[in-house]
Amino acid sequence: MKENQTQHQARANDQITTCPECQQVLPKIAKTCFSCGAEQVQETEPCANCGFETQVSSKFCPSCGTHK
Ligand SMILES: [Zn+2]
Ligand SMILES: [Zn+2]
Repeated sequence: MKENQTQHQARANDQITTCPECQQVLPKIAKTCFSCGAEQVQETEPCANCGFETQVSSKFCPSCGTHK
């Protein structure tokens, strides 16, 4: 069971970010900081295959499934 916990923690760390204004730790899906209210910019890049705007942090295109 310990191995599962370690994996879960690593994955959780992958889904957090920090507010550029106040360094509050936020989930990556947060659109605004719940501490200072600053807007959280989601960096995107177009998929090389279909042009869909994908999150820079994502590994697969959510539209066509291409591995970046
Ligand atoms: Zn903030
Ligand atoms: Zn794509």
